[in-house]
Amino acid sequence: MGKPGFPIPQPPLGAAGTPHRQGDGEPRVPHIFTSGCQAATEPKAQIMTTSTLNPARTLAELKELRALTGNADGAQRVAWTDTWARARAWYREKLAALPVSVETDEGGNLWATLRGASERALLIGGHLDSVPNGGWLDGCLNVLAGLEVLRRIAAEGTPPVTVRLVDWADEEGARFGRSLLGSSAFSGTLDPATVADLRDRDGITLPEALAAHGVALERMPDARRQQANAAAYLELHIEQGPVLEDLGLPLGVVIGTFGVERHRITFTGQAAHAGSTPMDRRRDAFAAAAKLGLEIRGIARRHGGVCTVGSCITRPGIVTAVVGECIVTLDQRHMDAEALVAMLQEAREAAGRFAAEEGCTVTWEPIWRIDPIPFHPELIAMGEAAIREVAGTAHRLPSGPLHDAAEVARAGIPTVMLFVQSLRGISHNKIEDTLEEHIILSVQALDRLADRAIAWIQGAAPAQ
Ligand SMILES: [Zn+2]
Repeated sequence: MGKPGFPIPQPPLGAAGTPHRQGDGEPRVPHIFTSGCQAATEPKAQIMTTSTLNPARTLAELKELRALTGNADGAQRVAWTDTWARARAWYREKLAALPVSVETDEGGNLWATLRGASERALLIGGHLDSVPNGGWLDGCLNVLAGLEVLRRIAAEGTPPVTVRLVDWADEEGARFGRSLLGSSAFSGTLDPATVADLRDRDGITLPEALAAHGVALERMPDARRQQANAAAYLELHIEQGPVLEDLGLPLGVVIGTFGVERHRITFTGQAAHAGSTPMDRRRDAFAAAAKLGLEIRGIARRHGGVCTVGSCITRPGIVTAVVGECIVTLDQRHMDAEALVAMLQEAREAAGRFAAEEGCTVTWEPIWRIDPIPFHPELIAMGEAAIREVAGTAHRLPSGPLHDAAEVARAGIPTVMLFVQSLRGISHNKIEDTLEEHIILSVQALDRLADRAIAWIQGAAPAQ
């Protein structure tokens, strides 16, 4: 059960105020319709009505999907595999019960569109694909919570704006090493030429794997057409880190995704005999790299970011030789662009200093970088209000991992994410878990946020 510090969700009440059984039938949860993000300050404007939102169904469907596409080692819905296709076929069956049109775009993204009075569209997204031996919530919670919200909106008739639920293709990049594949096709940041030669462990190329699922790599950028009329994007995701659990909070609103600097750093000294080379005569490349590995912890702490040396290769790499060459990777992340620049600058200075101290030289080679991607301030405020409504307290936090939402935001579409607490902060692993009561709250929060966003889109729409 829950810890003190946040409300434990009450059992859903029927229309007559009586507790309703969950998991069968259609429990009705009291639902407050609000008009726009200012509604919280205008309680008179609120109309109490009932909603067909059934978060218990989301929980049941998550378990159904786990049974269908997981095994003893965890989720196996790796994109462009049969198991992933099975997950999508199962999901399509769920969509068939809704008054939506369903299409797969050139990027392999699966869209369900509920036409509204206006063409301007609220997008809600997630990804059914997982890493091998993955968790039961990463990505599919987003899709299935979105499905439940879509059902609730559809049950109320034609919505004022169009609502579209997207299952992004290959968020994880687990098979070919290129994550956010479908969403980058949508955002326009995917250059097919840069991924055409990617191969999986069995030597199958990315274009071959895509073709087996009806996707032509060179046409993937045409998925950009899906940006038409997109007015806002919402994504719920498990946190995959320990922050909310440490705070004792079920939910948080995400202010954006970290900027990332990734570099390969090569220290060069002199390989020498481990027995015959006196300590004061060594030019030990590993010693210089090791000093940097420790130094980056202080750099991260000083700036409030994160820094990681994730890989270290030594040459000649034998037990009887001083290391002549040491190659390490450095990954630095921060929500603030200037702080990220400062962290990189300090790491460069430190690497130069340590190289000199150890009689080595050092060179840097960029691997990849991305700017911090802040989410939309008004949507962040709406997300916060939605969380407060269902859970009492909201917390703002950045996202360390990148998500499809980052690609959508890069396309200039107002975006926000909600995080729900991850137990032990563990993800990409079969022990990934979230309390069921928190999953319920997360579906409710996404639903409230969707209502606010719809009202916001309406208000922002040009007069017709
Ligand atoms: Zn994910």
